[in-house]
Amino acid sequence: MSKLISIEEAWGILVRESGPGDRARVHLADALGHTLVHEARADRDFPPFDQARMDGFALRAADCVHPPVTLDVVEEITAGRAPTRTVGPGQATRIMTGAPVPAGADAVMMIEQTSPAGEKKVELRVAIEPETHIARRGSDVPAGGVVVEAGRPLSPAEIGVLAAVGQAEPEVYRKPRLAILGSGDELVEPGAQPAPSQIRNSNSYQLLAQAAAHGLHAEYLGIAPDDPQATRRMLEQGLAADVLISTGGVSVGDKDHVGSALKDLGVEMLFTKIDIKPGKPTVFGRRGRTLVFGLPGNPVSALVCFHLFALTALRTRMGYSDPLPRRIALPLLDPHRAKGDRVTLWPAKFVLHQGQTFARIVEWHGSGHLTACVGIDGFVRQAPGQHFAQGQSVECFPLPSVG
Ligand code: AMP
Ligand code: MG
Repeated sequence: MSKLISIEEAWGILVRESGPGDRARVHLADALGHTLVHEARADRDFPPFDQARMDGFALRAADCVHPPVTLDVVEEITAGRAPTRTVGPGQATRIMTGAPVPAGADAVMMIEQTSPAGEKKVELRVAIEPETHIARRGSDVPAGGVVVEAGRPLSPAEIGVLAAVGQAEPEVYRKPRLAILGSGDELVEPGAQPAPSQIRNSNSYQLLAQAAAHGLHAEYLGIAPDDPQATRRMLEQGLAADVLISTGGVSVGDKDHVGSALKDLGVEMLFTKIDIKPGKPTVFGRRGRTLVFGLPGNPVSALVCFHLFALTALRTRMGYSDPLPRRIALPLLDPHRAKGDRVTLWPAKFVLHQGQTFARIVEWHGSGHLTACVGIDGFVRQAPGQHFAQGQSVECFPLPSVG
């Protein structure tokens, strides 16, 4: 039960226990960041007809082998209008970008390569190959082709594609509702003046912001005092959410009541310790469908553990086929020697140096040193005893960019 597990083992448990959440239909205007339950397919050919890619003249390339050539303009087709005339030898149709190419034409000459040649006539100044500036029907995606896969967060481009294929209200996984709880007799809210022995509650606000940075709504429940009954009462309130995240009170001190209160409330504990610094006493449990995280109270631990662990559970709930935190490899700007006997996540900036991006580990005094994390771009993972040479490629966990 109190086994120290690896980061990978924690991910495995989180994915297994979190399972995808409920399904819902969302309007496209609210679909950002959701994942589709089913892949989306093209409902018709894309483009749906042979389409002009340029403003100009639809014509027969064979008419224009020896320019200059003058053709009769038989029609003008603006976007949204269908052609009514076939283009015959010696003829052309004035056409706008995106409009259907008329039958008979096999190329579109850009307007810039033509000159007006009197009433309903155009002069072509250059030769042209067949198929120039025509997007053939179905050449992007044929009808029935997959356009957006299930299990990937919907980005603006994907939402545009869903609109194009007529999925006005796609079926997605509902985003989980979070509840955030602070704990500790030493805490006051940010607007209050702390007594000399008190500190301000920072965790709840950074967690609300992390949730918001991932497009998730979280409700703030306040600060639970270090008292077993009050802790239990406030945790019970949080268990009404889909995912409850509390911070503090999960170590082994006399005043650490969160772990025992969760057990009393019938939460099944799935792990309680991870081989990671900061963030070792990270608790994860489940009661029915509700997931519970007891993150360590130290602010950098809470920052790291939301990103590394809570997010994986949330993304699994949201149907992500790859719910793990994103990882990238970057060369390290300066050499770095591991400290201690746990896997460490070092706060780092990703900096541009001589035209290349490097990870630079910032000066950091430990899990309480949140100010070191101002302006960081992510974390670098280092195994105990490992030495990183300058320029060595290291594994980085980028934080989401905001704004
Ligand atoms: P705990 O896990 O409750 O022993 O807390 C570990 C450390 O984190 C202590 O120094 C606490 O004062 C601090 N801490 C706990 N909760 C918060 C919070 N919400 N905001 C800032 N610091 C906190
Ligand atoms: Mg505490």
